[in-house]
Amino acid sequence: MKVGIIGAGQLGRMLALSGYPLGLRFVFLDQSADAPGAQVGKIIVGEFDDPGALAELAENTDIITFDVENVPESAVRTIAGTRTFLPPVEALATAQDRLSEKTVFTSLGIPTPRFLPVSDRAELDAALATIGLPAVLKTRRLGYDGRGQAFLRQPAEVDPAWERFGQLPLILEEMVAFDREVSLIGVRRPSGETRCYPLAENVHEDGILSYTRAPLDEPELQATAERYVNRLMQHLDYAGVLTVEFFVTGDRLLANEMAPRVHNSGHWTIEGAVCSQFENHVRAILDLPLGQTRAVGHAGMVNFLGDLPELAQVLAIPGAHFHGYGKTPRPLRKLGHCTVVRRDPANRDTSMTELLALAGRAEPDSQPLVE
Ligand code: AMP
Repeated sequence: MKVGIIGAGQLGRMLALSGYPLGLRFVFLDQSADAPGAQVGKIIVGEFDDPGALAELAENTDIITFDVENVPESAVRTIAGTRTFLPPVEALATAQDRLSEKTVFTSLGIPTPRFLPVSDRAELDAALATIGLPAVLKTRRLGYDGRGQAFLRQPAEVDPAWERFGQLPLILEEMVAFDREVSLIGVRRPSGETRCYPLAENVHEDGILSYTRAPLDEPELQATAERYVNRLMQHLDYAGVLTVEFFVTGDRLLANEMAPRVHNSGHWTIEGAVCSQFENHVRAILDLPLGQTRAVGHAGMVNFLGDLPELAQVLAIPGAHFHGYGKTPRPLRKLGHCTVVRRDPANRDTSMTELLALAGRAEPDSQPLVE
């Protein structure tokens, strides 16, 4: 069985690495011949909407999935007519637009930060009058890792943000004074079996994920998040891994966004759960029995952004598992990550403090690692 993956980034690479033991083979489509997937599979080089390249991918594979969200919807609609394409195009299209995504959340009774669409300056002023400051102005499309968004804390910040993004369809959201950010990763196979991983707590810096800890032992939040994610997966007739990021305020969860794919906040599942998000994604799209999502210890994952620490220094940390993606360093680029799995949370947090120091980041005072 050959699986085609649109995008050969680190997520595609980890998908392939998880699928080889199952006897699967992988072919990627990517703009770059030396993308991270190149070391573990063949890459068809082309743009994501190049009809020739997509057709070649379809001819060489039995089923197609993706590791990126910016795959043009029209291109995948064509390919989805010729090969099984999962997760469903509808889910991808919904996640590509922050307005459709939040509209779907709302229609399913999943709370979100208050939001309003903005397509011109008059609508921005009206939205600001309703939502008030502080607020966040975001592009509806192609925003990720904090890109395409401006935090509006005071009136003087409105004009510069409008200058930057005013040409694009936008959404204005209330700025949530959250207690913490969490994500829930769910997985569903076409025949309907679903599972959810334990909630993970995520800390972002400048909109980019810095580190994750899991499991977050909050049974009520877990039950609520699972209810929301299961509702979403059922509504979308979903197959594969689906990630939803939430803000936690008190005992409430507000859905920020969803990703119809494996997610950075789930890297800890490679060593920290019985079956990883990557293997479960592959199992799900092939409609195979899903693996257990239970955590096997207390896991922490630190992203390496911009440069990689010395391998020997990382491996000297007890319980550390290093993942390098084979990418050329660039400022803030995700080059690798490290996961520690320990039997108790205090030891996990000690190892993570060492890892964060190696990654050149101090642990933020406001988010103590040891609770
Ligand atoms: P996003 O691209 O929507 O995932 O946003 C990246 C990060 O910006 C989030 O993980 C939050 O830390 C922050 N952020 C985004 N939207 C809001 C919001 N409405 N209120 C507060 N913080 C936000």
